Amino acid sequence: MLRNRTERPTEVSDFAFNRTVFDVGEGRVVSTDEVTVADDMDFLGGIGRSFKILADYEVKDPFGAESPLVINTGCLTGTAYMTGLRTYFSAYSPLKRTRKGAPMAGWSAMSGSFGRKLVSAGVGDLVLKGAAAEPSLLLLRQSDGGTQLTVEEAPPEILGQRVPERMAYLNRRFNDVEEKSYPAHFAIIGPAGEQWESVWYANIVGSTQEMVMSGEDKFRFGGRLGMGSILGSKNILGIVVVAPEDVIRKGDDGLKAVNQEIATGNYSRGYRHPDNKNGLGGTGKNEKILDGIGVLPWRNFEPRDKNLATPVHIETMRESDDYIVIDKGCFGCRISCHMDFYAAPPEGKDPDRRIQRRNHGPFLGRYEYEPMELAGPNLGIIDPDENLRLARLDDDLGLDTISANVVLSYVMDYNTRDGEQLAGGLQFGDASGAARLKEAIAFGREPLLGKGVKAISEAVGGAGFAMHCKGVELPAYLGQTNPGYPFALAGGHMSMRTFLLYILDPNRKPESADYWVEKITQEGWDMIAKDLHGGCLFFLSPPAEVAKGIQSIYGVPMTGERILEAAHQTHLLGFALEQRQGAEPDDYGMPEEIFVGNRKGDLPGAHFLTEEMFMEIRDRVLAIMKADTEDAGYGDCSTPSTQTE
Ligand code: SF4
Repeated sequence: MLRNRTERPTEVSDFAFNRTVFDVGEGRVVSTDEVTVADDMDFLGGIGRSFKILADYEVKDPFGAESPLVINTGCLTGTAYMTGLRTYFSAYSPLKRTRKGAPMAGWSAMSGSFGRKLVSAGVGDLVLKGAAAEPSLLLLRQSDGGTQLTVEEAPPEILGQRVPERMAYLNRRFNDVEEKSYPAHFAIIGPAGEQWESVWYANIVGSTQEMVMSGEDKFRFGGRLGMGSILGSKNILGIVVVAPEDVIRKGDDGLKAVNQEIATGNYSRGYRHPDNKNGLGGTGKNEKILDGIGVLPWRNFEPRDKNLATPVHIETMRESDDYIVIDKGCFGCRISCHMDFYAAPPEGKDPDRRIQRRNHGPFLGRYEYEPMELAGPNLGIIDPDENLRLARLDDDLGLDTISANVVLSYVMDYNTRDGEQLAGGLQFGDASGAARLKEAIAFGREPLLGKGVKAISEAVGGAGFAMHCKGVELPAYLGQTNPGYPFALAGGHMSMRTFLLYILDPNRKPESADYWVEKITQEGWDMIAKDLHGGCLFFLSPPAEVAKGIQSIYGVPMTGERILEAAHQTHLLGFALEQRQGAEPDDYGMPEEIFVGNRKGDLPGAHFLTEEMFMEIRDRVLAIMKADTEDAGYGDCSTPSTQTE
């Protein structure tokens, strides 16, 4: 949360925020400081600030008691700016590691209502250290004297429980559903996070307003890079923020037009339901698009044909008489990108969408591209019911859906080859076996498989088809189409916008190293701007539009160029932190089988990325990023002030 330092701010330095270091083991505030905004990274917030904090720590063990977990928000979080809801969790990741095993800095971002309550409670940057002696809850309470922080032992009824049961308990205890009073929101781990020693890709699950009101398991996720494992290692099962009074910064008259554009304009069109201002269907639309040109991940990223997964395209399932799709949104967001699938009622599906919304069967799961694709076609599973069930299971167990399903596709691929079998010989297409394996991983019964495909392949072989870069499993876009993956800071598509160029860029030149080097070093990093300011990934407004919203809310000058510059600085700081952990050129690699001439490299839909071309791209990108990092003043990012084990 930003506070005004002057009555009429004219520059970003007229704001300040608090930074609190809290030791969860001792249950005490170690320090709390009022920090004056020094630059646009501080002002915009999110990872712009948390990377600066992480730069102060040298971390060898991400689970060490002194290893920090930074929780914060962006300047738009909790304001009247539509989609301004994000919370960021930043830490040295157990998953993202150098080849020598050093953890590297990363983050995960989460929508839902937890962030706006954090802002209302007055939290700026919260740095968690230490580890509680017993499984515990961390409580943050709004008060006149600032945020009150306490740790209490977790009640026995939530130990070992799945996410929906934990959320239901917290909702009963801290909200009053009968009185329609919802002062509290939650960020929790599931059983996977409790088993952090053997699960390195546990997620953090956030409550939504719909969840606290309806009781349905409608959550948002800080999924990537094992931030739930980090929270679990601190023995914190959940964070509860209680803020009875919503403190919301409103904008001037201009904000209405900005929000109208976000809700109904072209930039968010792709994420809206077709009945919502001519939307294109949500993230799920990508499945049919990619499948139509033969680049949909299939059986561990190896599509040998087009249109392999038609039964589980969102369009097919939406038209089916078996399902009703209702688009839902986070608090105040009219993009409503959540495509929630319900069973049709026993008497059948009414053709009228308004009646469908009121009259439907039970909730079956959400259709978002990544979970559905990776828990479906990429496992060789194209039964819609099984696909929905498997994707939903990740949420219930508290597993990052991308990492978990890429582990499963790796296991299935491994088992197609001669020799040893993993996980009892699990095969592509085996949905019930896949569900059993997810359960086993989440409850700590498969400690090797819980550590991600990098660690597994180091133990049993198969690095050539272990689909990861820097230990972070690839998202649901083929590596064969994207040599930008290794330069993403926080996993594939969330922090490097090169993953769809091969499919969508009308001016693409995939066989040109120049093309990729330019896209990676000049533009790809621009998508982390959303990881500073707190707006959502799914509105795609250009930075100049975001700047209008910031000006409207804070009354200080802001431009799209300034936002991009802050994003670039943050990207370079993130790269400098990787270098400080000892990342070498070979750490920026890709799995060998995706290169032309190898098993997955000569696909009908993609066959341009030779190993030679990738090596040229890599060497040129690293040279440019190193030079830019020096120029930005991060070249000596080698003297952290805090040493940890
Ligand atoms: S675009 Fe989707 S995820 Fe983002 S705030 Fe809106 S409803 Fe939530």
